[in-house]
Amino acid sequence: MGSPHRHVSIVLLVALTALSAFAGAASAAPKVTVTTTSYTIWGATEAAIRSSLDRRGPGRFDASTRWAVSYRYRFGVQGGRCVVTSAAVETRIAYLYPRWRVAASAASALRVRWNRHLASLRVHEAGHGRNGRTTGVQAEAALRRVSTSSCATIRQAIVRTVAREIARGQAADRAYDARTGHGASQGARFP
Ligand SMILES: [Zn+2]
Repeated sequence: MGSPHRHVSIVLLVALTALSAFAGAASAAPKVTVTTTSYTIWGATEAAIRSSLDRRGPGRFDASTRWAVSYRYRFGVQGGRCVVTSAAVETRIAYLYPRWRVAASAASALRVRWNRHLASLRVHEAGHGRNGRTTGVQAEAALRRVSTSSCATIRQAIVRTVAREIARGQAADRAYDARTGHGASQGARFP
């Protein structure tokens, strides 16, 4: 606690689940599952709300997005190469936001101010969500292109390939946070 700016951040949860020999869909877009949860904060003044956010928020931040990419594939020999014959990727995106238990004594200006902050947090986190979606799409495309000389090594090649796409997605998240000051430039600042 102690950082002057408390905005938002990404917490990456990357699940590398390789389930081999699974019949995936032919060529559908990755499935995307989105969940949104909240934590409760209290306060009748800006300072009290800030303090509640600091105590109860995710890490040093007011909101967070976690995304994870998992995948399944099947492989076989075609034209003398070991190739991925089907693949299915699932992207899970989990948003966490504060929910203010509005104090009866809270001034209406404070309610307006709070709603603005929440809206800005949503804008920022949605950007992380887009990075997660894009990563899923890219991972699936890359997975379908994996080809090795022997099926003994295709699993490692697949793990490396997907890990590379996930690392790209994580880099995109870091660049996004650097560009936006963790949402500050999008208005995610309270008070
Ligand atoms: Zn962020």
